[in-house]
Amino acid sequence: MNAGGRGAARAARGVAAMVAVVVAVAAAAAFEGCLAHGQEGSMRPIDVVVYSARRVRTLEPAQPLAEAVAVAGGKVREVGSLEAVRRAHPEARVVELPGVMVPGLADAHGHLRSLGNSLTVVDLTGAKSEAEVVARVKAAPPERRRSDWIEGRGWDQNLWPGQQFPGRAPLDEAFPDVPVYLVRVDGHAAWVNGEALRRAKVTGKTKDPEGGRILRDARGEPSGVLVDNAMDAAFKAIPPLTDEQLEARLASAVAKCLAVGLTAVHDAGMDLRTFTLLQQWDAVGRLPLRVYAMADGRGADGDAFLERGTFRGRMLEMRSVKFWMDGALGSRGAALHEPYADDPAQSGLLLWDAGELEARVHAFMERGFQVNVHAIGDRANSMTLEVLERQAKQVPGNPGRHRVEHVQVLRLDDIPRLARSGAIASMQPTHATSDMPWAEKRLGHERAKGAYAWKSLLEAGAKLAFGSDFPVEEPDPLHGLYAARTRQDARGQPEGGWFPEQRLNGEQALAGFTTGVAYAAFAEGERGRLAPGMDADFTVLSVDPVEAAPLEVRGAKVLLTVVGGREVFRAP
Ligand SMILES: [Zn+2]
Repeated sequence: MNAGGRGAARAARGVAAMVAVVVAVAAAAAFEGCLAHGQEGSMRPIDVVVYSARRVRTLEPAQPLAEAVAVAGGKVREVGSLEAVRRAHPEARVVELPGVMVPGLADAHGHLRSLGNSLTVVDLTGAKSEAEVVARVKAAPPERRRSDWIEGRGWDQNLWPGQQFPGRAPLDEAFPDVPVYLVRVDGHAAWVNGEALRRAKVTGKTKDPEGGRILRDARGEPSGVLVDNAMDAAFKAIPPLTDEQLEARLASAVAKCLAVGLTAVHDAGMDLRTFTLLQQWDAVGRLPLRVYAMADGRGADGDAFLERGTFRGRMLEMRSVKFWMDGALGSRGAALHEPYADDPAQSGLLLWDAGELEARVHAFMERGFQVNVHAIGDRANSMTLEVLERQAKQVPGNPGRHRVEHVQVLRLDDIPRLARSGAIASMQPTHATSDMPWAEKRLGHERAKGAYAWKSLLEAGAKLAFGSDFPVEEPDPLHGLYAARTRQDARGQPEGGWFPEQRLNGEQALAGFTTGVAYAAFAEGERGRLAPGMDADFTVLSVDPVEAAPLEVRGAKVLLTVVGGREVFRAP
């Protein structure tokens, strides 16, 4: 063996050791509460009266504020004053909570596997130039690589001088023979180098795939950015994760969610391998977070999910399917009725043939699945509503509560239409505040009035479910609560908020991350509020997210996360 070979073997052992540590740390963080009660791996709950000297915010209209909650068998048994609850349960242990108790915060749209990836690959978020991206990739330790590929995530050309898509030259110069695959912050474009293109067999002769675009230079050669479906060729050239790597990435994602106060996550398009692994964890009590999975409705995995039908485990449930109608606004992949204001040659990409999509939607509805469609541009949203309305009528006995994911840009007359249809608007408040520096340029002022229009939707009678779309945005629901109330960035800009008429009050914002998420999962009778009979899922915060000033909410601390009566995270 030559020196290089020994080095590689050493590096491989190093990676294995690191992965083992990640799994152990994540598991310890997740199951600490359980171990404390001597029931490793079981779901045995604590039997206590918990109370807050500050307040308990219940989101129960009849009794919005309380002091104490009795918990037994993983359920809330009683809510009221400390004196009354203690009197009713004299046998119970009484535990004082370190802050304000609210119903378990939940995220209606995130991606666990991608979050795990983003916690593992080179972090490019916030990079202020192409050069900074290249420097971060160069500085990354070799164990970040999958096989010899270097992966990164989080770049955003809107933060760079000129705001232009990058070319492959700087990557080729730094990495002439190592393939590099860097995903844009929204997950809808990849910046790659020549070696990655070579391995993906993408050349000047390669045609743009359906629903995708290979950006090209003046000679027609790939210039280094692949948009939407064009990313597939390069992504598929990367060797798959080992089981160990996948487990480690998922464990770190789950631990991260619990640490930011989330008790439940809706995974917006899960692949079969991830689902199978989570099923195994759930079967042995190793899944500390509630996961409401949307099956990825595409391709072979979609076929398999359709055949298997819906699933309900202890913490894991799958009764919904995800489709993608269009791309994202940042990469001009969102499908618009009229061309982009800042690029009149483009009006976005539809990722599906309409007939094919409709047939799939029909098939999944017949199998009892809720259908959740990613729609960002106003054209994609109109088409999604059409498909959902038509198919819901055609499939008697379908479960209803179908969802539009993102609902980012709506024609104003689609706002009451969405409400009438009964579809749920699954929205991400932090998308508005991340996109507001450039969204109006893409859309023009008039169209921007129907963008991220959650207040208009609420007033029209639509149901809102809020999330973050992690890892596109940070998973922290406190950031989302802040964005929903202010439509401002972390520094309080712009003054008064961007299209401030769309701001929500504190209670509406909190409902979006609790009762709204529960309703979107058919679980409003089990979660989202603190009332007798509900699951004992709650989050303890350093402030009251309804009454505290928005900036205080954004800067608040998550002190404790409890799922089904079990402590799954406590702030160190
Ligand atoms: Zn998403």
